[in-house]
Amino acid sequence: MKYSLKELNSFGVESYSSKLFLINSINDFYTIDYNIRQQEKIILGGGTNILLKSKFISIPIFKIQIQGIEICHEKDDEVLISVGAGVNWDEFVWWCVNKNFGGIENLVSIPGNVGSAPIQNIGAYGKEVNDVIDSCEGIFIKNLEKKTFKNPDCNFGYRSSIFKKELKNEFAITKVNFILKKNNHKIISNYSSVLSALKKRQISQPSIKDIAQIVKEIREKKLPDYNELGNAGSFFKNPVINNKKFERLCSRFDDIPYYEVNHNLIKIPAAWLIEMCGFKKTKFNNVGVHKNQSLVIINLGNARGIDIFSFSQRIKESVYKKFDILLVEEVTVI
Ligand SMILES: Cc1cc2nc3c(=O)[nH]c(=O)nc-3n(C[C@H](O)[C@H](O)[C@H](O)COP(=O)(O)OP(=O)(O)OC[C@H]3O[C@@H](n4cnc5c(N)ncnc54)[C@H](O)[C@@H]3O)c2cc1C
Repeated sequence: MKYSLKELNSFGVESYSSKLFLINSINDFYTIDYNIRQQEKIILGGGTNILLKSKFISIPIFKIQIQGIEICHEKDDEVLISVGAGVNWDEFVWWCVNKNFGGIENLVSIPGNVGSAPIQNIGAYGKEVNDVIDSCEGIFIKNLEKKTFKNPDCNFGYRSSIFKKELKNEFAITKVNFILKKNNHKIISNYSSVLSALKKRQISQPSIKDIAQIVKEIREKKLPDYNELGNAGSFFKNPVINNKKFERLCSRFDDIPYYEVNHNLIKIPAAWLIEMCGFKKTKFNNVGVHKNQSLVIINLGNARGIDIFSFSQRIKESVYKKFDILLVEEVTVI
């Protein structure tokens, strides 16, 4: 049996698998053959942060579809919510916003599932999900050992966690537990586009719903809908370099944009590096760079995974040559 993966990845590339396992409950792992569980494997959520490079994927794929949202504990000011890894992330955000549970409103409209949110510690508009994660529950696929990782054990960093590194494709997250605020919300609105939208609407004390609505609208204008134009969001991470290297770059490029991470580290927008290498609005073999955001690589037609991968490598080589900076993929290439 050959399964098409075209509908299971947001780049919309065609790829096939003969070993696709749909996981609707943690118990489903116990029904899978021992030999299959010992093999190299792929864990899949909504497929919005992956690139299927190969036309045929021979290793087993475990697609996590576990549903359910449960309020486990409530205090006057906080709530502990346990969410199945297969719940759609954006639906969960709106479920919270409508109940006035605050903490993830800035992360509205990020595609994908709840179980994938901790993997790369999703972030947007001044917020990262690790701020509100209490713990991640799941199972080691090889030996079926269940484990709960409390927040500090998840080793969260910028677009990174233990699940994206040491435990990649070994530990399947089945549930994520969140602690959200019921009142005294910490509103994060210091992004210039959010601030100007608030000003335009004459909102001086925004609610979490205002923030969610505004971020949703900004994102709709800025980012392509992957149902219309296949993509996986930012293809590369924004590189972080040390002061010395930054100074050297400044002597060559005096208009280089940057954010200070700390007194020694500087983050450079990868989109700027890509544009400076001449890739703005370019296309090749049905693959291109999105007109509003050069960090987003798009499938302009029936591009193959390998075409998208080759294009991304051309970008990477050009940036390295010009700036001596090695871009790192945010997207998981399979
Ligand atoms: C238009 C667009 C905009 C985006 N904007 C943002 C943004 O603003 N910020 C941001 O951070 N990301 C963004 N992304 C990237 C993506 O939405 C997130 O990374 C999202 O969390 C991926 O979820 P997913 O379920 O689709 O994961 P998948 O693509 O299915 O998987 C991603 C990775 O997680 C692993 N994985 C998935 N589920 C599990 C699980 N249950 N257990 C263990 N491992 C698992 C996979 O093996 C893979 O390595 C964007 C993507 C698109 C297409």
